[in-house]
Amino acid sequence: MTTPRFSRRVAHLAPSPTAAVGKVASALAAAGVDVVDFGIGEPDFDTPDFVRRAGIDAIEAGRTKYTDSAGDPGLRDAIAAKYRREQGTECSRENVLVTAGAKQAVFNVCQALVQDGDEVAMFAPYWVSFPEIVRLCGAEPVFVPTDLRSGWKPSVSALERVATERTRAVIVNSPCNPTGALIEKEELQRLLDWCAERGVLLLFDETYDHFLYGGRKHVSAAAFWTKHPGRIVVTGAASKTYAMTGWRLGWALAPKELVSAMASYQSHSTSNASSISQEAARAALTDVDRSEASVAEMLAHYDRRRALFLRGLKTIPGVECAEPEGAFYVFPKVSSLYARKKVKGSVEFCRLLLEEARVAGVPGEAFGMDSCVRFSFATPEGRIEEGVRRLRAWAAKD
Ligand code: PMP
Repeated sequence: MTTPRFSRRVAHLAPSPTAAVGKVASALAAAGVDVVDFGIGEPDFDTPDFVRRAGIDAIEAGRTKYTDSAGDPGLRDAIAAKYRREQGTECSRENVLVTAGAKQAVFNVCQALVQDGDEVAMFAPYWVSFPEIVRLCGAEPVFVPTDLRSGWKPSVSALERVATERTRAVIVNSPCNPTGALIEKEELQRLLDWCAERGVLLLFDETYDHFLYGGRKHVSAAAFWTKHPGRIVVTGAASKTYAMTGWRLGWALAPKELVSAMASYQSHSTSNASSISQEAARAALTDVDRSEASVAEMLAHYDRRRALFLRGLKTIPGVECAEPEGAFYVFPKVSSLYARKKVKGSVEFCRLLLEEARVAGVPGEAFGMDSCVRFSFATPEGRIEEGVRRLRAWAAKD
């Protein structure tokens, strides 16, 4: 059998490493091995009842046809209303593109704006798909370092050191996957001023906008929409907020000319996000009281799990962890254990951890930080206790 010649775009493309860890962990679990799985980045809660009901009702009412490629007008209105209500954004339906998850929203934005020769800056550690999405546009990702000591905070001064005249866009993800760091309001303002001076676009990914801890308030670029017209694109999703990862429903809030361009692009690729998922998301976004109650319940669980994980990690000598301010991941630095474990980096570390201690985590290398490992705390408290116990015992062994 001859192998087909792959295009330049996919020839060097590796599958998402987060999905790869999940696959190994599930295969072990299917073989009857008791794995504590901190790998997968999705809520372990069910989609709220009233949202599931809306999906079932959509099927029963025959809302199973193509929709407008930019999204169902009612859902686009509901997403615009969310930004007006939560961030005071002066936006309307024309500013909203509905997509099959936040991932497709980021992908479409980059496809519409970024091309060969461009650079896209992003803060590292970064979400695994940002660099690949940028490369798929023929452009180059440029990494802006952040560090554990500062709580992985994005800063304009670090950006300034790596930006060039080819920098077309900057990606900020707040709350951040994998670190849980939030961008501070003053820093976001400085960043937007910096973008305005250079004609650079800000792509602001707020997939985890409802999961913040310690009473912190989400700072969104959508709040600066009017002050910086045409400069900001916000991407978000129903995926985490309403525990709807499998429904594949996200969006981009963007200048209306960009929404039209992305809708045309989408009309030739996926056509539209699932009509059923769109109906369910509309219910989630319009029944604000019920969705806020379900988010509050999930957040209370995540908050307890976060505290438990952080307390546990503190008992492991050599492991250092910044407190995540949002999302549902801890991102401890574990490189002081590499010599004892005779491993060169986070990939081997995670492989051994899974093989010997039956704990699944994602190598920090996937996020551009080989000294760290990402553990998801979208996992019941009992499993966190067990996982940390295994990690501590394993870390102590030569
Ligand atoms: N952005 C970030 C930062 C994420 O962590 C994820 C999901 N892991 C996405 C986007 C994609 O979300 P969705 O499932 O809605 O495509």
